[in-house]
Order: sequence, then C-alpha cells, then structure tokens
Amino acid sequence: MSDFDFDLFVIGAGSGGVRASRVAASHGARVAVAEEYRVGGTCVIRGCVPKKMLVYGSHFAEDLHDAANFGWSVEGARFDWKVLRDRVLADVDRLNGLYQNTLDSNKVTTFHERAIVTGPNEVTLASGEKVTARIILIATGAWPVVPDIPGAEHGITSNEAFHLDALPKRVVIAGGGYIANEFAGIFNELGSDVTIANRSDQILRGYDEQIRDKLMKISTEKGIVFRLNAPFEKMEKQADGSLLAHFRDGNLPIECDVVMFATGRKPMSFDLGLEAVGVEMTGNGAIRVDAYNRTNIESIYAVGDVTDRVQLTPVAIREGHAFADTVFGNTPRTISYDCIPSAVFSNPPMAGVGLTEREAREQLPDISIYTSDFRPMRNVLAGRNERGFYKMICDAANDRVVGLHMIGPDSPEILQAAAVAVKAGLTKQDFDDTVALHPSMAEELVLLK
Ligand code: NDP
Repeated sequence: MSDFDFDLFVIGAGSGGVRASRVAASHGARVAVAEEYRVGGTCVIRGCVPKKMLVYGSHFAEDLHDAANFGWSVEGARFDWKVLRDRVLADVDRLNGLYQNTLDSNKVTTFHERAIVTGPNEVTLASGEKVTARIILIATGAWPVVPDIPGAEHGITSNEAFHLDALPKRVVIAGGGYIANEFAGIFNELGSDVTIANRSDQILRGYDEQIRDKLMKISTEKGIVFRLNAPFEKMEKQADGSLLAHFRDGNLPIECDVVMFATGRKPMSFDLGLEAVGVEMTGNGAIRVDAYNRTNIESIYAVGDVTDRVQLTPVAIREGHAFADTVFGNTPRTISYDCIPSAVFSNPPMAGVGLTEREAREQLPDISIYTSDFRPMRNVLAGRNERGFYKMICDAANDRVVGLHMIGPDSPEILQAAAVAVKAGLTKQDFDDTVALHPSMAEELVLLK
C-alpha cells in the first residue's frame, strides 16, 4: 500500500483530465480529481459541444428560407432564442451528468472545488484540506484572453455567449480565429448584425489562404462585415445600455449591443502554485512537458490546453490516455501530432488536414495542386450561388497527398474520413483509383483535376 492518499490526483475534469482519470483507474490506480466548475470542461460545458448545437439551430434560418425552392411553404416561422439556449443548456446538463457517471463508475473520487499544488506530491483544496498523491496531473485547460483595453469589462467571451438573455441585434466580435468565425456564422444566421474586427489583415491564421479567402467572401455575401487591421482601442457603455466600440484604424466607432472577445485562449497555469514547486513554463505560460507529458518535476505531469501544444479536444483526450497508459498501464507511449485534422464550424464550415499550400511550398522542393470549385447540388436547387471548394496538395516527387483542405456543406464530416487516407500516406492515384460515390459532394475528392 502506498504512503499517499491517492496514486493519481488530477486537477481539472475536462476532456484530458476525465480521460486520464478513467484510464488510470482502469489500470488499478486510486484516482481523485478536483474540478472547481463543472465536470466536462470547456468542450462539453462552454465550447465545442454547445457551440455545435447553436450551429445546427442557427442553420434552420437558411434551410427554412431555401425550403420554398423545394416546394415547401413555411409560413409564420419564428425564432425564439430562449428555447434554443435552454435546450442547449439542458443537454449540457445531461452530458455533465454522463461525465460525472464515468468518474463515479470508475471509482474516481471527485472534489468539487479548486485545488492548487503545494508540493511535488501534495495538493491543497479550497476547503484547506491537504491531499497527497504519488502523481499529480495538471489538466486545467485554457481561458479566453481579453485584451487590456479601457471598458473591456463591458464585453463578453464565448463563455457567456451561451447564457445571453436575449439575441443581440448588433454584435461586434473581436478576433478573427475559430471562435470569431463560428459565432459570426451563428449570430448572422439568427438575424443579428455582425461585425468581425481583427487586429491583423487576415482571418484564421494558419489555415490555407485560398480556403479562408473563400470563407471571407461567402461570409461577406451573407452579410457579415469584416473590419481588418483594426486593433481594439476602447469600449464605452452609453446611457441606453448600448456599447460603442472604438478601433485604432482611424474609422468611426461601431455602436452595438454586445462585444464578444474571441482573441485567443491562454493556458490556465496561473495561481496553481506551480511556480512555487518549480514547474517550468514557456514564455506564454504553458506548462513545459516532454513527449510523455511529464514536467521537469518527476511527479507532476500535464496534458491538454494548459500545455498549449495543439488546443483541440481530441488531442487532449489522446494525451490524457497516453499519460495514463504510460504511468499506470505499464505501456509507455507518446501520441502523434502529425496530420491532425481540424475544422471551423463557420457557415459554411471549413476543414483541413496536413500542410497548407504555403507550408508545402516552404517544405518541399516541388508540389502539385488539384482543386475542385463546384456548386453543391443542394445549393443549385435552393437557388444559392454559394460554391464549395476542395484542394489537394501533393508532394510532386512521389504523388503523396500532404494536405487536403475544403470549404462547403458538411466538409468536416467529409474531411474526417479523407484524413485517414492522408495520415496513411496515400497518393493522388489512390484517390483516383477509388470509384466515386455519386451523387455526393465527397466524390469531388476522387475526381480532382
Ligand atoms: P484563435 O487563436 O483561433 O484566434 C485568435 C484571434 O484573435 C486571431 O484572429 C488573432 O489575431 C486575435 N488575437 C490574438 N491575440 C489578440 C490580442 N491580444 N488582441 C487582439 N486580438 C488578438 O483563437 P480563438 O479564441 O478563436 O480560439 C482559441 C482556440 O480554441 C483555437 O486556437 C482553437 O485551438 C480552439 N478552438 C477550436 C475550435 C474547433 O476546433 N472548431 C473552435 C473554437 C476554438 P491575428 O491572427 O491577426 O494575430
């Protein structure tokens, strides 16, 4: 029997922490987890999952509009934000319960309070109770960054967006990344006037340029306004409760009802006692770990967004699983960060895996590019001009597909399957050898020219 209260103490019951807890327990470890808010973490409680439900809910606006061209008359259709909001939040409650059940059924002890590290093998709970563990895992995730500008306290972040009392008539979203474009699509569909204001001259840095240009074009056609090279200067609350957002771009301020900051997320490594026990951090506050998720302190590990390697839920889950197998399952293993697919659930969504065209040009002596610019059948009948665009990037030396990027309806669903082929190192010829599944949008992938 160990001298410690637990074999593993996990701080943070999000995607990475819950997976690590469950798998470590299944390997026979005595596990405890502390969560100061709600079990499930950002993805389940205030991120990917409720966001995707809002995406579904908002897309009905377009579908109902298009329905007429498919012979349907939909008179008197009205939208009620509170119905959608409350149904989404109710499902979040359900998922929160399922995550708690997972912990309980694996005999993981849950402390519903904040925990900080007070020694290499000790944590102290908010109640003052001290708990010891052979291994401590930090899985506290990340938190929205709000720029330090006058009046910033009048804005919200995606955390609050799920709880709004009413649908705002006019929204300004600061930032041009994932969250900005996803919420712009949601609010725009639901009828709000949306402006995306970003500090630089581009949106979605890191995505293939051609794909993100298409998103910007389609979003603009749908009514979303982009204000680029517009760093936020200050925000004022007016007597009628509306906000005035000022930018350092020399143009007039924008009057709106809600300002939402979507300006990145920082690792939640602060105020956890980590500096005091000597855990090393990177310049941006991420916990520095090795390939096995171990920090410079032998008994302390970290996984997920707090390590700021790839801020994506499935990556945190894999890191948590690999950590538990390594430390408690006698199977040391690392995870592969190569060819991680990702998607932006904008309207339309975009998705990609592997190198962008720019990256491929920088890294390979010669590349070949194949594209398809098409109008999905559904959009044709709907009378919508909106086009889809797929792009395949190959290493010219061996025909291997090194990048695949797309924008269009259901592109995340299509890309997930195609990512298997890219990860497996298949070639353009392998795609061409596969018979098209007709009629589908995905068939464009095996017909690329
Ligand atoms: P992103 O990193 O995607 O984008 C941040 C945006 O904010 C960029 O446009 C950036 O501008 C701008 N920005 C950054 N710092 C500042 C600052 N100090 N002041 C003003 N503007 C700033 O962040 P998000 O907040 O949208 O999302 C956070 C992370 O969450 C994502 O990186 C992603 O990993 C994850 N996520 C994933 C989703 C998915 O998988 N579908 C959905 C939502 C989030 P610029 O680029 O011009 O410098």
